[in-house]
Amino acid sequence: MQKTANEHFGFRLLQNRLSFLTAAFIALFLFPGTAPAEEWQSEYAYGPFEIYLNVDINLVRKTLEQIADLDRELSARFSLPPCQEKIKLYIFADVKTYMAYIQKEYPGAPMRRALFAMEKDKPGQIFTFLHEEFDVDLRHECTHALLHSKIGRLPIWIDEGLAEYFEAPKGQRVYKEPYFTQIKRNVSYNIFAPVPDLKKLESIKKMGDFLEVHYRNSWSWMNFMINDPSRQKLLGNYLALCKNADGTEKEQGAFPSFTDFLAQMAPKYKTDYKTYWKELKKPTK
Ligand SMILES: [Zn+2]
Repeated sequence: MQKTANEHFGFRLLQNRLSFLTAAFIALFLFPGTAPAEEWQSEYAYGPFEIYLNVDINLVRKTLEQIADLDRELSARFSLPPCQEKIKLYIFADVKTYMAYIQKEYPGAPMRRALFAMEKDKPGQIFTFLHEEFDVDLRHECTHALLHSKIGRLPIWIDEGLAEYFEAPKGQRVYKEPYFTQIKRNVSYNIFAPVPDLKKLESIKKMGDFLEVHYRNSWSWMNFMINDPSRQKLLGNYLALCKNADGTEKEQGAFPSFTDFLAQMAPKYKTDYKTYWKELKKPTK
């Protein structure tokens, strides 16, 4: 039976990202019960993650602690339930064995540094290897995996906006570059759609149509929502609406409109967005 998998990418470089996007969100063939046919040196459990390692635990321990933390944090921030299952995380010894595995098990998948695959009614799986941006990529993919486990399918722009936000180290999430400077510039000079169009973001139903600018704009909206207790609560309420949305509709990508939700709950949201970004200052070191 053909199954589809959501897959997300870990490349942070613009060129890599764009080249991937042309082939993004393709249907993948998954083999039921598939698990990497590797000999794993060690297995660990961190929070809801079941981790299979072919690298020294000491090289990744800090990041694994962070993703377990992320699980608790997402639940606390948005009043989300615990994960419904153990999420499997496979860390390969090197790029060669990782690529060989992905090519074999996910033929046609774009070659990226980290991959999140999800089968309907099955635990999510994350695959990666040690590389320069390992911790950022892992926090990004684990945010997706945790949200999917706690809520289920989400609108692409919310899913990516949150993953972009939580991929940064804790103290840098709000000021993540180059997004921070670009958004500040747009709002300060009133250029390039200073208040990014929410309806437009909501209308994107395919990963292939989701471009760099959409990542940035989604991040800016999530940043705005999270960094105010009452707005963060609203976002949690919206996530609950998505969680409770009819399963069939979710499969078709039909979610309650966030724009309508926000317009109703916080009618001044466009002005508030501008004020928030105008006033937000990066702390001086
Ligand atoms: Zn992503």
